[in-house]
Amino acid sequence: MLETSGRPDARTSEDPARGPDRTPAAAAQAGEPTPGVEAAIERGAARLEATAAERARMRAMRFDTIAVHGLYSMAEALANQGGINEPAILSPAQHFASSDDMEAALAYLAPSWTYSRIANPTITYLEEALALLEGYGLDEEVSATTTSSGMAAVMMSTSPFLTLDAAVGGGRPRPNLVASAQCYGGTFMLFSRYAAERGVEIRWVRDAVDPAAWAAVVDEDTRVVFGEMPSNPGLGMFDIAALATIAHRVGAPLVVDSTVATPALMRPLEHGADIVVHSLSKAIGGSGLAIAGAVVARHGITSRVGPDELRENFALHVKLGPLRDMGPGLTPFSGLMVMNDLRTMRSRVDHWSRNAMAVAAWLEADPRVLEVRYPGLASFPGHDLAARYMTLVDGDADGAPAPRFGHLMSFRVAGGARATRAAFDRLRLVWRATDLGRVKTIATIPAISTHQQQGEEGRELADIPADLVRLSVGGEHPDDVIADLDQALG
Ligand SMILES: *Cc1c(COP(=O)(O)O)cnc(C)c1O
Repeated sequence: MLETSGRPDARTSEDPARGPDRTPAAAAQAGEPTPGVEAAIERGAARLEATAAERARMRAMRFDTIAVHGLYSMAEALANQGGINEPAILSPAQHFASSDDMEAALAYLAPSWTYSRIANPTITYLEEALALLEGYGLDEEVSATTTSSGMAAVMMSTSPFLTLDAAVGGGRPRPNLVASAQCYGGTFMLFSRYAAERGVEIRWVRDAVDPAAWAAVVDEDTRVVFGEMPSNPGLGMFDIAALATIAHRVGAPLVVDSTVATPALMRPLEHGADIVVHSLSKAIGGSGLAIAGAVVARHGITSRVGPDELRENFALHVKLGPLRDMGPGLTPFSGLMVMNDLRTMRSRVDHWSRNAMAVAAWLEADPRVLEVRYPGLASFPGHDLAARYMTLVDGDADGAPAPRFGHLMSFRVAGGARATRAAFDRLRLVWRATDLGRVKTIATIPAISTHQQQGEEGRELADIPADLVRLSVGGEHPDDVIADLDQALG
């Protein structure tokens, strides 16, 4: 059985000696372990070594192989009655063989999972696979922590940096968060809540494709720089590498929400980002059977605030601290649903991207459509950035480079908001829903749905006109999707 290292309950951030990496020597200093506990620690160390060896073995494999197998090896299967799928451990808590095992685990001296709010073996398989996929091709340690939703991941990836420390009120200006104005409606609302409830200044960047627009507002009071790429629903782009440099210059981490791209098309860590957040509810969990999220981070992130372990392993820090205390962990059942879809992520994203390209090209050529925003179109303002950052991992069937631009687009219908609603209401195959990244093609009007609550001004800031339709293209034959759009446009 795979287990997470680290038992959080006994741990405080001020006491790194109690962290998961505490050595037996440090433990001895803190009080002699009994021979029984000592033996439990040794058994735990052997398990950790086996996990590290399996991680190293899988890291040498290709993207699809990692997605299909993760860290669930034949040896793991034999320990689970031979099952070739990861076991579904729905139990809230772990049974220990003895008080020695329990003591070693709860003192963080041996790997354990203990309680499913914080860690769970099924979830750990998902997290290990996500970390390997997001860090694919990167010669660095990467860790992942899953959350109950994408919004929980956005919160967990930003809130630990927004502490109101002694500097505030001591003459220093307010801490600020710099973010792309084109972002998911829920993210816009969360950051607005940070402003209202914590006094954090939110600096929205409208012209995200221009690095100078970011550089102009990032300063020494910036705690975190956050960008969504491609953004939902505007497909906004930015230069990840340039933005990482700008953030790091002031000691702030760069967080990228790359839900729409997925690691099959883009891996921001490789370009200098510190943390990646995903809504696993979308394309990664493309069958649409669960709400879930993930925080994936390189080890050794940049941050001026927070304890050392926050910088050393941010994902683990979140799991053992904020997530433990606030409780937005992922349920094992949902984790299992997502893991099942994760295995086919690359081929699905490839397929949907090719379908989306066909639909976007058709829409662009139609006079009933004012404008199409799709990163794959040469007319799209962020096309060059998309071409630089988005490409199908491991290339096409022959291994040749394969530019792919994802499943999401938006378009404006000629004739204004009323004509847009009329066309939307005539759809017969494309679902009307506030969902995306699905095997089923889905459309929404963001101004009256996902981005309704941020108001007229917020929508103006994020460039979401009333006649904009967001379209997430799935696995149907594109000709049938096009035929539905054709009859709907009237
Ligand atoms: C949906 C979405 C989220 C929020 O994810 P949930 O799982 O719905 O909480 C965050 N970012 C982006 C880009 C999204 O599309």
